[in-house]
Amino acid sequence: MIERKLSRRLRRAAVLVACFSVAFLICGGLFAAYLHNSHSQLLEDQVILETEEYKTRILKQLQADFQTLATLSVFIQRDTDWELLAERLNRTQEYNSFVNIVYYNQDGQGIISGQDGNVVIGAGLAELSEDGKQSIEKALAGEPSVSRLFESVISNRRIFVYSVPVYDGDEVIGALSASDHIEIFSDIFSGNTVLGGGGYIHMIDSDGNFLVRSSKTVVQEDLSTIYDGPYLSQDSKDDVREAMQNQQRIFSTFSYEGKTYPFLLEPMGFNGWYLFCVNTGEGLYAESNSSILVAQVMFTAIVIFIILLMLYGYRLLRNYNKDLLVLAYYDTLTGAENMSRFRQKLTEALTESGGSVTTFCIRQFPFLTEIFGKEKSNQLLCQMKEMIGRHIQKGEFFSRDTEDRFYLFLKETDPDTIRKRLDALIKEIEAYPLSGRTDYRLAVYCGVTLSSGGNGARAEMENMLTRVQFALDKAKEGHSSTIWFFDAELHKQEELENYIESHMHHALQDGEFLLFLQPKIHLTDGALAGAEALVRWQTGSGRMVFPNQFIPLFEQNGFCVKLDLYMVEQACRQIRSWMDRGIEPVPISVNQSKLLFFEGDYVQKLTHLLEVYRIPAHFIILEILEGLALENVDELSAKITQLQAKGFRISLDDFGSGYSSLNTLGKLQIDEVKLDKEFLMNAADQKQMRVRLIMEEIVRMAGRLGISTVAEGVETPEDEQLIRAIGCNVGQGYLYSKPISADDFDRIYMQERFKRGSSR
Ligand code: C2E
Ligand code: MG
Ligand code: MG
Repeated sequence: MIERKLSRRLRRAAVLVACFSVAFLICGGLFAAYLHNSHSQLLEDQVILETEEYKTRILKQLQADFQTLATLSVFIQRDTDWELLAERLNRTQEYNSFVNIVYYNQDGQGIISGQDGNVVIGAGLAELSEDGKQSIEKALAGEPSVSRLFESVISNRRIFVYSVPVYDGDEVIGALSASDHIEIFSDIFSGNTVLGGGGYIHMIDSDGNFLVRSSKTVVQEDLSTIYDGPYLSQDSKDDVREAMQNQQRIFSTFSYEGKTYPFLLEPMGFNGWYLFCVNTGEGLYAESNSSILVAQVMFTAIVIFIILLMLYGYRLLRNYNKDLLVLAYYDTLTGAENMSRFRQKLTEALTESGGSVTTFCIRQFPFLTEIFGKEKSNQLLCQMKEMIGRHIQKGEFFSRDTEDRFYLFLKETDPDTIRKRLDALIKEIEAYPLSGRTDYRLAVYCGVTLSSGGNGARAEMENMLTRVQFALDKAKEGHSSTIWFFDAELHKQEELENYIESHMHHALQDGEFLLFLQPKIHLTDGALAGAEALVRWQTGSGRMVFPNQFIPLFEQNGFCVKLDLYMVEQACRQIRSWMDRGIEPVPISVNQSKLLFFEGDYVQKLTHLLEVYRIPAHFIILEILEGLALENVDELSAKITQLQAKGFRISLDDFGSGYSSLNTLGKLQIDEVKLDKEFLMNAADQKQMRVRLIMEEIVRMAGRLGISTVAEGVETPEDEQLIRAIGCNVGQGYLYSKPISADDFDRIYMQERFKRGSSR
């Protein structure tokens, strides 16, 4: 029971700990993921924001340049003087940082103004490099454009060109074009301002070629495209290529020296150019990054700490439960299981199948402890535990109760097998040398009971433990090693005796002993000759107990003396009651036990009762058993004489049942003899002529001695016929009536006598 409760509690704690741990881990994971995500999101947003800012600045620069060209174009007309135009271009060049600024008309004739003030008038379009030419041609067709990056044939530097159409009215008359080194953006890119110094921005074209590479780079090698080297995985390359084809923004990563770097590719919106922004994880954001890391680490540490704490708590609870279990289920001296555990296991075992319970104890164990000391006796108990442990098989168990009491459950139900197994165990225990100095031999008592099935495991368990105790008590009554099996019949008797012994005094006080009367009938005329007082014990619970169940015990424990006198008093009271009511009394025979009969003041006690109830003594017949005559005939005879002198009559009960002899009749001055009911029982058998002869002889002899004869156990008319035939005077038996309560007797037999008594 306790075990189940504890393990349930433990299981609950384990589930709780596991749930909490999982919940904490999930929370921790979610929190870490949340931190990571929000940080990444924040970074991404920041990268986009800052990159777009750069993009805007670049576009603004381009726009400003376009604007310069557009403004300049306003001053150019069809008839503008080329010298004048060259000067204008030159002047414009002074305020801007263009590599060249050129003008071409629709005929492909143009002016080139260089940085150093060189002006070429009448330059042909064909002299320009292909990219520059294409840009100008687009402008001549009315579309402003920016070229790809290309190597200038003039400056031998990588430049790009942007061109605007020059209108005269609605007509495009020429194109103004300026070229710039891509490095103009380097200023923009060289600053360490992206992501608080933690990001580098490069510019690439649609093929991934670096147009402008920031002065600060993650990858230190000289690279011409972002695809160079092993830094971008194949997947990333594919994704990047696809995104760039569609001019989409893309986030991806590359690895360098074992570290992963996220980057953003932001389309510029012209020429397929892209801004390539790499997050190095350093700079300002590194701090927030590291504080997030610290938060994550701290949170993880807290979670681990809490889990450890809970595990520790769980361990403590488990150990505490274990201790509780040990306390609840184990005997501290021998380490054997205790009775609580045994009862529990026994109930479980009986639910499944039958078996037997044995209880042991050592003969005179307290004495052994006293003689050999506590330590030795404790050692013996520990050894007993070991020995029993060695003798049990799977599914069997044992326990120690208190002192030297051990209980053992064996799966066996066959008494012979049990006895054999117990013999082997007892032999081992008895061979244990308690002390080296003496050759004291131990003796073991064993009480055994078998399961009886039925009831219910719990009730059966309780019954078995009671029965085995009873069997052990019986075993102890022997003097050497004894194994005693419980005997149900014997037990019932003992149980009753215990009950009787412990209740008899109260029962007498409480009037539980009742006077029952059985009529005695004159065989000559069928008239009522008297009645025999027979005691009945009606216990508090209403159960009726018959005299053969308690009289033998009362004879042993002496209580008969009290009970018999009580019954005499009840008889006196009854006679008094008849007399008081004017009913002619009949004599009442009261059974007297040997003990009472030989009590010193027996006669006085009886006469005292007669006086108290004012009754003539001849109304009381004292029935004594013939066995009394065997011991001291003289003393008995003297007592009889004494009583007869007082007026009592004496009847010899159950004559013929024991060692009676006809001599007894001669020796004792008795008034009545009651033939034992055994006679009639045997006489019913026609072949038993001898019985009949003996009865006849007794009756004849009694008659001659002036002794009245009563036949007991008259059950049938044949019985009555027989006793009448042999000359018996009175009959008593079920044929006339069973013993009935005094009230019933009054009603059935005495009312009539009232009429007679009163008519006299
Ligand atoms: P008992 O004195 O020989 O009493 C006769 C017993 O035979 C009674 O049993 C009675 O019920 C029984 N009996 C009567 N008629 C018949 C019959 O036709 N057939 C059979 N088979 N039995 C019959 P009960 O009342 O159980 O008493 C048993 C014995 O207990 C008595 O035997 C007597 O020895 C003793 N006893 C009863 N009351 C007292 C008492 O107050 N004091 C003492 N000391 N002994 C008593
Ligand atoms: Mg009797
Ligand atoms: Mg009798």
